[in-house]
Amino acid sequence: MPTLYQPEILYAEGHAQAGSALLVGDDGIVERIVAPDEISSLTSDIRRVAMPGRALLPAFANVHSHSFQRLFRGCAEGRRAGGDTFWTWREQMYRAAAFADPDQMYSIARAVFLEMAQAGTSLVGEFHYVHRDRNGRVYTNPNALAESILAAARSLGLRITLLRTAYFRAGFNLAPHPGQRRFYEQPDEYLANLDSLAAAHCAQPLVRVGAAPHSIRAVPLSSFHPIAEWTRKHARPMHLHISEQPAENEASLREFGATPVSLLAAEGLLDARTTLVHAIHITEAEMEQIASARATICSCPTTERNLGDGIFPADLAARLGVPIAFGSDSQAQIHPFEDARQLEYHLRLRDRERGVLDGSAREAWRNSQPIGASLIEAMTANGYRSLGFAGGHLAAGEPADFLTLRLDAIELLGADAASLAEQVVFAASPSAVDAVYVQGRPILQDGEHAESASIRAEYQQVRRDFLRFQQQFPDPFREVLP
Ligand SMILES: [Zn+2]
Repeated sequence: MPTLYQPEILYAEGHAQAGSALLVGDDGIVERIVAPDEISSLTSDIRRVAMPGRALLPAFANVHSHSFQRLFRGCAEGRRAGGDTFWTWREQMYRAAAFADPDQMYSIARAVFLEMAQAGTSLVGEFHYVHRDRNGRVYTNPNALAESILAAARSLGLRITLLRTAYFRAGFNLAPHPGQRRFYEQPDEYLANLDSLAAAHCAQPLVRVGAAPHSIRAVPLSSFHPIAEWTRKHARPMHLHISEQPAENEASLREFGATPVSLLAAEGLLDARTTLVHAIHITEAEMEQIASARATICSCPTTERNLGDGIFPADLAARLGVPIAFGSDSQAQIHPFEDARQLEYHLRLRDRERGVLDGSAREAWRNSQPIGASLIEAMTANGYRSLGFAGGHLAAGEPADFLTLRLDAIELLGADAASLAEQVVFAASPSAVDAVYVQGRPILQDGEHAESASIRAEYQQVRRDFLRFQQQFPDPFREVLP
């Protein structure tokens, strides 16, 4: 029997409608949006779910996540603990990467995914590059850690794209870095493991497997092509880090005489399945190349400000019509609302202007949406497309992946259909999220998941184990570990 969800405000197909309802089939697919004056004339063989005081929106896609980095949240913020640059922070990250076994990885990912669900997320893109055991040896199942991540998402009911990451070297003319010993694979070995992971999960409707050459730095060009070829052959997403730090551009210039984006464009490695993560230090000509390839950019503003990466030129992307999606990346925060508003706020501080990303007030911009709708599209549909799933608009035929917000949450009091998009983007927080549905099934109700208590307890245990591990092995990747 189809279900009719009747919120106070429905945000679907890019705009808010007071009193409209969402009709969802038994298969979890949206049948249609029902206008207020049609609701009373619907036949009686429909289950009706009244949602008074709620706004219903497409749920969010978190396009770029490294779950294990949650372990050292708050532990590398000061100069003594984390150093003063991205590169000194990265050494701390390697110490965290040295720790988790498959069971611990599962518990960490569950806590991260619970936090995402509680922030309104229905779909995560896990950019996963920890493949080997603590000593750099291959697990009996070379995809053991990837399977832990997938099992964690499945245990919560979350939709996931596992972006199995290729990491072959420390960088151009650099010796292998011991902190990366759990990441390295040989190119042929990587492709075989990618193939078997994709084959093992091809029948699961909530799972996709994609490929992620980590970066131009970590994957030599000759190995890039076969990975891109694999994504084309199997119609899968390809994600990579690009131009997060100026040093990455400089190394690319030294090795190839070209910056990373222009190199990819010249090599025919950019297309509509490609998502470039960060793309902060790029020129207008490079943004044109991204636009003409119809690639997506995943911006991670809460991480980028935390790491001091720089300001992503979102106005340039919007002017040229490059789709933007969001990721929590280092898990410094898991806060999709904050990611969305920071995209605009960073530009306001840079330019000392307001409404920088308001395409509706900009002539000749290819993204001509109002600012709220545009940023909600980035939080939802752009992320779904980037991760290889249909959805994100709640249009007929799309999966019913949606969230509800409590309109009596203090920050949303007074929100109406006219102001909903901007109130959500500029004022809402995860604490206003009431429910999250994936393919028509609730995974979060009253702000909690059914397994919340055990997920929290497991994470606390792993966190204690991690602190003990750090005391025992202050320099873990230079030792043989148990
Ligand atoms: Zn990343």
